Amino acid sequence: MLHPPFEETKRLLSRAPITVLALGGNAILQRGQRGTFQEQYENVRSTMAQIAALLNDGFRVVIVHGNGPQIGATVIRHELGHAKVPPLPLHACGAETQGFLGYIIQQSLRDELAKLEVKRSVATIITQVIVDQSDPAFKHPSKPIGPFYTKGQRETLLRDRSDLVIEEDSGRGYRRFVPSPDPKAVVEDDAIRVLVDDESVVIACGGGGIPVIRQGTSLQGVEAVIDKDLAAERLATSIHAESLVILTDVEGVYLDYGKPNQRLLSKISPSELETYAQKGYFAKGSMGPKVEAAIRFLRNGGKRAVIANLGDLGKAINGTAGTQIRN
Ligand code: ADP
Ligand code: MG
Repeated sequence: MLHPPFEETKRLLSRAPITVLALGGNAILQRGQRGTFQEQYENVRSTMAQIAALLNDGFRVVIVHGNGPQIGATVIRHELGHAKVPPLPLHACGAETQGFLGYIIQQSLRDELAKLEVKRSVATIITQVIVDQSDPAFKHPSKPIGPFYTKGQRETLLRDRSDLVIEEDSGRGYRRFVPSPDPKAVVEDDAIRVLVDDESVVIACGGGGIPVIRQGTSLQGVEAVIDKDLAAERLATSIHAESLVILTDVEGVYLDYGKPNQRLLSKISPSELETYAQKGYFAKGSMGPKVEAAIRFLRNGGKRAVIANLGDLGKAINGTAGTQIRN
């Protein structure tokens, strides 16, 4: 059955509020999986079945996704292949992951929408995100990426590339560390907005976007990775989204997370959440940036931020699951 014309018209007229969905690593790869194409494809497919149901209800959606394990794998492919083909810089590896993940996301979502007979086009935008060259993060590379090395391998690598920072990663071996600068602006935001206004579903800012700096009137990729939740906030704010929904592998934001007295924050204001953040309740590389993204979004005009479990997408959107953050 095709969509009744009335539904189509209603949809076009309604200009439903925009939701930016930030998908955590578990939407693409589950803990313990190796990362085969098939594994990633199947995880993405089941996530897209959930998102298709939302779209069937008339939502306008932009999808942001992570790329931690994928960019690590891409870097390994480039490094191991260097005797045959020249390796690409990290920002180009980021672009590669946006391309292949965008491909499987847009294909799966399209197929799931076709099952529901929902006519919405789906497109991935290769997205650049501007960072500040003088961001202090460039002096303190904090984000481990790619393979683990032995001490010997570390020395060999540094002989060829003295610009790399390779340090011990929590006692598990040596790893490359790259800066994680704060995202400032999404270069392609106008194009994304046009597509969203046209009822298309857009996949953008994959992996936090490709980090670029301004050089006069040009843009130049830099060796860094941007946190995807902070990038999702930049995008959500600039396209005037109503909601920023961050989906991950825990029920929401906890106080005393991992301790016997851990408790879920179900409804909270950004200022209260900020007080907890300042007290150090949220881990730096994981829950911290999600909380920061939510606070920034509300401060910059957003109506609602949600941090919830991926499996609770529907409930997270209707306000009955996760941590619901509102002014
Ligand atoms: P994602 O790929 O979704 O960004 P992350 O691993 O970066 O996933 O962030 C989610 C993780 O944050 C959870 O699995 C949990 O271990 C961790 N975490 C740290 N502090 C908290 C907290 N206070 N409440 C909930 N989860 C927390
Ligand atoms: Mg994360």
